[in-house]
Amino acid sequence: MRGDYNGGTEVRLSKQPYPITTLNGLRNAIDPTPDYQRPPAWNLKQKQLLIDSILRGYDVPKMYWHRLPKGEGFKFAVIDGQQRLRTIWEFCANEFALAKNADPIDGEAVAGKRYSDLDIDLMSKFDIYPIDIVIVEEAVQNEDEDEIRDMFLRLQNGTTLKAQEKRNAMPGQMRDFVKELAKHPFFESCKFSNSRFTFDHIAAQMVCLEEAGGPANVRDSDLNRLYAENGHFDVNGKLAKKVRRVLDYLKRSFPEKTPELERYNAITLYCLASTLLEGYVHQGTEPQLAQWFISFETERRQQNELDEEQRDPQLIEYLRLTSYSTDTAESIRGRLELMEKLFFLAYPEIEPLDTSRIFTPEQRLAIFRKDNGHCQLKIACNGDKLSWGEWHADHIVPHSKGGKTTVANGQAACPACNLAKSNKT
Ligand SMILES: [Zn+2]
Repeated sequence: MRGDYNGGTEVRLSKQPYPITTLNGLRNAIDPTPDYQRPPAWNLKQKQLLIDSILRGYDVPKMYWHRLPKGEGFKFAVIDGQQRLRTIWEFCANEFALAKNADPIDGEAVAGKRYSDLDIDLMSKFDIYPIDIVIVEEAVQNEDEDEIRDMFLRLQNGTTLKAQEKRNAMPGQMRDFVKELAKHPFFESCKFSNSRFTFDHIAAQMVCLEEAGGPANVRDSDLNRLYAENGHFDVNGKLAKKVRRVLDYLKRSFPEKTPELERYNAITLYCLASTLLEGYVHQGTEPQLAQWFISFETERRQQNELDEEQRDPQLIEYLRLTSYSTDTAESIRGRLELMEKLFFLAYPEIEPLDTSRIFTPEQRLAIFRKDNGHCQLKIACNGDKLSWGEWHADHIVPHSKGGKTTVANGQAACPACNLAKSNKT
């Protein structure tokens, strides 16, 4: 069987029925979670159902494996079938039992039984049960794994692969702005590559989230709307500047390639950084964000190895939210809430900005009198006398660095000095 999966690159497929004993024998040769896979998400019931189906001889969907280049580590990566494969391995290792209310099979009671408790006939029926494996071999040597990722996505939902390509063909300022963002160096720090305009896609999602001021639906239909409604988008406007600032901040936080940065957490991390920049004293917090994020991801991955009862319920919920519909407002909100909670718990010293940034008329008058109506900055002038109609109340400690909007933290400044100060910082 031959298939043309991506604009000309040839992919060879061959189907093999492998008995379960063979799957077990290959356990160390298979990478069950290459990066285009979702995290394992099956619950105990789903696992029991699969084993029950196999024992009853029902059909089990075929798996897709990618044969890896000879030489290094794993022989195969699982394109599709990760949960099924893990379930089979776990059952064979006696890690879980069949359901307590399972009906007998071939006259044998199986309720609550683990693999090693099975009657010998049933055990051997299980061992020789054949699972169809489609082995994917690429005709082109050293081909990027993006080919395989695309195929996996096609198997999963089969539809939206060309959506970003189509958006890139929609003329307008939003298209141009997203194209500019896709070249931002932050994306080079992420694990995913720019196959099929992934950078454009994620950048468009970030703009969509910034536009909404927080979690929002960022599915293809929402991104199409963003492009359609923003044909005359101001690439030097407030929104555009904010998105660039957040990406700059993220690049400073993650200057190097960071394998933990995946498609689904890059956008939640964007939201967290946007919140930080908007409402907190964030100067110098870049290393904290990076350190926290990497330890969060490490903990999350370690938890996946534990039994469900031993895992942190918050992380089980996070896993659920990253397992499907990751582009909906509900999923992003749930993930962001947990991230924000844990991040600010880890760094209680990160202070919120004073919510009022503008001095009141009473404060302005008090500052003007306190400073005898003379410019205190003396950058562009020599402390000139100010006229009441034309002066600025300036934060001595800048608002963005946690300076309060109080008379004590205010000083009178002439417009030229005020501009010179803000250009400096
Ligand atoms: Zn001045």
